[in-house]
Amino acid sequence: MQSLLDIVDHWCWKWRLSVNQGKTEVIHFRKQGVSRSTFNFNVEVKPLCYTNIYKYLGFTLDEHLQFREGINTLADTAGRALGSIISKMKNCKDLSYTTFSMLYDAWVSPILLYAAGVWGGKELSRVNATQNQAMRCFLGVHKFTPVLALQGDMGWEPCLIKQKGEMLRLWNRLSSMPEVRIAKKVFNWDKAHNYPWCREMNAIFNETDQQHVFTNGLRCNTQSVKHILFREYKEKWANDIWHKQQLKTYRLLKYVYSPEPYVTLPLDRSRRSLCAQLRTGILPLAIEIGRFYSVPEEERLRSVCDLNVVEDELHFLFYCPLGDEARQILFQKMQDVKSELFWTEDEVKLEWFFREEAFSVATFIKSAWKLRKNKLFGCF
Ligand SMILES: [Zn+2]
Repeated sequence: MQSLLDIVDHWCWKWRLSVNQGKTEVIHFRKQGVSRSTFNFNVEVKPLCYTNIYKYLGFTLDEHLQFREGINTLADTAGRALGSIISKMKNCKDLSYTTFSMLYDAWVSPILLYAAGVWGGKELSRVNATQNQAMRCFLGVHKFTPVLALQGDMGWEPCLIKQKGEMLRLWNRLSSMPEVRIAKKVFNWDKAHNYPWCREMNAIFNETDQQHVFTNGLRCNTQSVKHILFREYKEKWANDIWHKQQLKTYRLLKYVYSPEPYVTLPLDRSRRSLCAQLRTGILPLAIEIGRFYSVPEEERLRSVCDLNVVEDELHFLFYCPLGDEARQILFQKMQDVKSELFWTEDEVKLEWFFREEAFSVATFIKSAWKLRKNKLFGCF
């Protein structure tokens, strides 16, 4: 490497240029546990200092190629971009689901997933946190909302799949690159030694049953691989929601990972927020407040109405006498459209309302919640 530096040195001398010493440093990329080189590199007879991070094409690389530093910087920048969308939402209150998703994909995702082709093989909490914050903000829910419910109702592609999509794009570029290119040689070397990047690619192709693509170094169809990964993710999600106590109501009315009608319909923010809170089990009914204070479930009552029962989501929606008047309009809708549901179980009704009559159920929740608040705190 010193001889290469000497060539640069000579070239600079020939063209009467000088190297900016303040911006020239040496980084020794190596495995963890290997000590840093002690060799002194010189440019223009001055020694170069060693550094442990280096910014290349806008991405910060560290000496052990952990990418942590670079990813944190990307997440911070993407967070600021998201902040600017959120501040725009204050002026434009009724931003639709499609517009919000497009803004996120065009404004935040490209920053968050910059160079993800290189680092994207693992699930990263900092990256996920940015996308979760965006979903929470659109649905109008607080930070303790179960992430599984957020994801299910928004139906967005998870970060890990987007990251893997970027890796597949890089794989395609590298596999069709001429053999003489340095990047291609590094790629072949990485593959021959089964180094981490190729190992991660191998895992992706294995998972999607496309082992031959990896073995023969072929180009792949990015969309179809992503489609398989997403399908598997949705299956895992459908299984995971059964293991979370807080999603007791949620799993009664949600089986498929896709955008919910109450999310895609042009509802105002307060109605969308109340619907999301009720579905995800965070609406401050006695059942949720009791969970917070570890009160046994059967004791989670509240004197909003005279019925001495546990105040849960089903009670609030279908039984609480406080919302009787507003409920009549809601049930009339059901009577008109699907009267046979009248005698079915509450869970079936609930699922039907959110699927087919999201607008009416949202309006009912808003007025019933207002009445409940008025009764409890004496204000609107
Ligand atoms: Zn009640």
